[in-house]
Amino acid sequence: MIIVSACLLGFNCRYDGESRPDKDLLSSALRKLFVPICPEQLGGLPTPRAPSEIIGGDGLDVLEGKSRIIDISGRDVTDCFLRGANEVARLVELLGVSTAIMKEKSPSCGVCHIKKTGSIARGPGVTSALLTKKGIRVISSDSIKDELETGIYR
Ligand code: SF4
Repeated sequence: MIIVSACLLGFNCRYDGESRPDKDLLSSALRKLFVPICPEQLGGLPTPRAPSEIIGGDGLDVLEGKSRIIDISGRDVTDCFLRGANEVARLVELLGVSTAIMKEKSPSCGVCHIKKTGSIARGPGVTSALLTKKGIRVISSDSIKDELETGIYR
């Protein structure tokens, strides 16, 4: 099985109540192995919800208690993001998953980049940082086509 950010599979779990379906993933022969997850929903946040941003760092900094996550209304939602990341990690352990495909630029699922107000910063989101720390191979949604062509399990 492969953990996949649910919005990439067409689930309307984004902050704005929409999805970002990836046609290569949805038509892949591997799709029966996909387990859709949305860390922000698993962390107890509603959909739609106010967009959030990691302040002064990346997901690793949040895991280490050095950065917080604040939504656009000013509410501190760090605990929800951490709860969601830990729930995904529990699922990964339960199912014996070793690979995850995660939506780039999200403060939860971003792999190499996270979106900040008016810019894109380097670094992972909270859930991708935790999965990487646990030894899971985390693949960016920006490289799905290449990964599917060369073999996700290589
Ligand atoms: S938390 Fe991840 S799965 Fe959920 S909407 Fe954001 S990018 Fe998609």
